[in-house]
Amino acid sequence: VDKNRASDEQIEALVEDSIRYVWRHGVSAAATRTGRGPLAVSASGVYVTDMDGNEYLDGLSGGSAAATLGHGRVDVADAVHAQMTTLHWVSLRTFINEPSIELGRRLAGLTDADLQTSFFVSSGSEAVESATQLAKSFHRARGNPGKNMFLYRKTGYHGTTLVGASASDNAEFRTWFAPLAPGFAEVDACYPYRRPDHMTEEEYGDACADALEATILDIGPERIAGILAEAIPAALVLVPPANYLRRLREICDRHDILWIDDEVFIGIGRTGRWFGFEHFGVTPDIVTSSKGITGGYVPLGAALATSRVMETIYGDQASGQAKVSGHTYAAHPTACAAGIAVLDAIEKEDLVGNAERVGEWMIAEFARIYADHPRVGDVRGKGLLIGIELVQDAATRTPFPRESGVGRRVMDRAMENLFMLRATGDVITLFPALVTTMPDARAMVSATCRAIDEVLSEL
Ligand code: PLP
Repeated sequence: VDKNRASDEQIEALVEDSIRYVWRHGVSAAATRTGRGPLAVSASGVYVTDMDGNEYLDGLSGGSAAATLGHGRVDVADAVHAQMTTLHWVSLRTFINEPSIELGRRLAGLTDADLQTSFFVSSGSEAVESATQLAKSFHRARGNPGKNMFLYRKTGYHGTTLVGASASDNAEFRTWFAPLAPGFAEVDACYPYRRPDHMTEEEYGDACADALEATILDIGPERIAGILAEAIPAALVLVPPANYLRRLREICDRHDILWIDDEVFIGIGRTGRWFGFEHFGVTPDIVTSSKGITGGYVPLGAALATSRVMETIYGDQASGQAKVSGHTYAAHPTACAAGIAVLDAIEKEDLVGNAERVGEWMIAEFARIYADHPRVGDVRGKGLLIGIELVQDAATRTPFPRESGVGRRVMDRAMENLFMLRATGDVITLFPALVTTMPDARAMVSATCRAIDEVLSEL
């Protein structure tokens, strides 16, 4: 359909076909059948244009945090075109390929952490699943096959495949996809805004770590392979107290448990560092990445493991024991070429620094605007990962009743106002592209406040 000449009937027919032929992900079946998202036809920079010519200011990097370079980058498209017309894909079972070697080398060099080896896949969920397989292989190679369980935290999200769903605190997954995979156990989240009144953030960080260790001892450390924990859980923007991840690292070391830092959402620059763990002076054993690794231009994911993990596994493979799963699209040359182009752009344009500077300004601006607001409980974030928690009463931190759906209403209102923000419960979240400029940031702050203020004033 030509967007300049489409009649209302043609658009309606497309919507009906969309309902019939494409099951939307991440949206309930009921909403898919009755609702209609706007039909996106083009995008450029931090704007997405729909069929009716509406331009949405994109505070979400495309909606799910992947479009970190913004939309319509010719440099990435050129790199993808060049790779596709040279060697679009060959199987990693048969050939090694140069783009994956180059991208692996570049990822290993992003930080001082010894995250040497990349296991390249095609999505975040696959990266998480691969990370759990690496962890199991690591312990088996060390003669501990009984260490095969994983811990995950309340409010966490780690993907949609069976392992991802089994490691996610998602009531719908737990009901509709039951039975989930065995060997996953939930521990408490570290949620500083919801800490007991009498505790400082640091005391709370210690208390969370103590509770984690108590659960480990309860289950038996000899049964636990790893803990899946985002350095900064993105869904609710839970920036932990400085001591918490240090303690988590110590506890993992004490009990021979691998820390799998899921950076699918926050990695590759979003928080103002290449990886979120860098804010805390700790190194995970395995880090997962996706979304920002190719800026959403081509699907790619990776599990990055330290040399200690890999050498243990490789060492065992020499004796013919370790098995490695393998995807058809593993280390896809075209996806890796996109990844290299994205890293080139981020480095050349100092987009990690930009995320830190612009993000800090936005967080400070929201904090200033809402300093004394009776229904804004908390403003928090790191770089371009920003959360604003709305509550019934900021003085007592009393949440809104669940059925009031305040967050959802703010999200819908923002869309009506042509601005994309997200709500997880009543936490309003923003995760704009790393290319966000100061004028873009000002527009995003005022669009966010407009949606929040309109909805709160109607309550
Ligand atoms: N892990 C985290 C932290 C995520 O945020 C996501 C997706 O949002 C995933 C894993 C799953 O990634 P994907 O949707 O690419 O399968």
